[in-house]
Amino acid sequence: MAREITPLVAGNWKMNGTGAALAEVSKLAAKLSEGSGPNCTVVICPPATLLDRLSKAASGTAILSGGQDCHPALNGAHTGDISAQMLADAGARYVIVGHSERRANHAETDELVRRKAEAALAAGLIPIICVGETEAERRGGIADAVVATQLEGSVPDQWSDFGIVIAYEPIWAIGTGLTPTIADIAEMHDGIRALLLKRFADRGEAVQLLYGGSMKPANAADILKVQNVNGGLVGGASLLANDFHAIISAA
Ligand code: PEP
Repeated sequence: MAREITPLVAGNWKMNGTGAALAEVSKLAAKLSEGSGPNCTVVICPPATLLDRLSKAASGTAILSGGQDCHPALNGAHTGDISAQMLADAGARYVIVGHSERRANHAETDELVRRKAEAALAAGLIPIICVGETEAERRGGIADAVVATQLEGSVPDQWSDFGIVIAYEPIWAIGTGLTPTIADIAEMHDGIRALLLKRFADRGEAVQLLYGGSMKPANAADILKVQNVNGGLVGGASLLANDFHAIISAA
């Protein structure tokens, strides 16, 4: 029988939000405290400038915090970068690595993403490792192969008991309002699970597989029902407590 996996819904605020945005965190925390609380793990990954404040504001609530990126090194001469240990020190429990915007804007390779994931694990963080194809790759019928290559290169060989998370985010669906069909999401997630099982045997069974790309209150329930979709990585819709709460409730 397939192992029961606790869903995870993570919000990626990207380069959005100043101190005033913490009001949305308080509002979300209040909503999540109603009834028996959420059925899933809830994470918000704010800009680094807000991480410490958000972690403190969320302390004692159902919300955990995460970073949006980390440097592979522990410390050193890397102006403007942030290490995984620094994120952990600021209260983070998770960190997104290999988001397509980082891969595209900062020329991040699979090898670099893997090293970042390893640094996250070494700092006691759970890496949310992102993979996904471009529109041209999907149209060209090579989406599965692209994602398989990204997984092979970006996922570390070893991880701690806390585990790793994989987020499948078709690049053409991010911030566009477009989403793959439910059948395409199911096929990709089944394929990712099969690759994890092949490479990691039983350990691959418990890895949470998130879908990301224009997940909204209106489509979350249908997407989150799909087998091998164990939650979502949510960009735009995570900025407002009401929208994010609706997605969390759908999980
Ligand atoms: C993302 O950037 O990870 C994302 C999924 O964005 P959006 O939900 O806005 O498409």
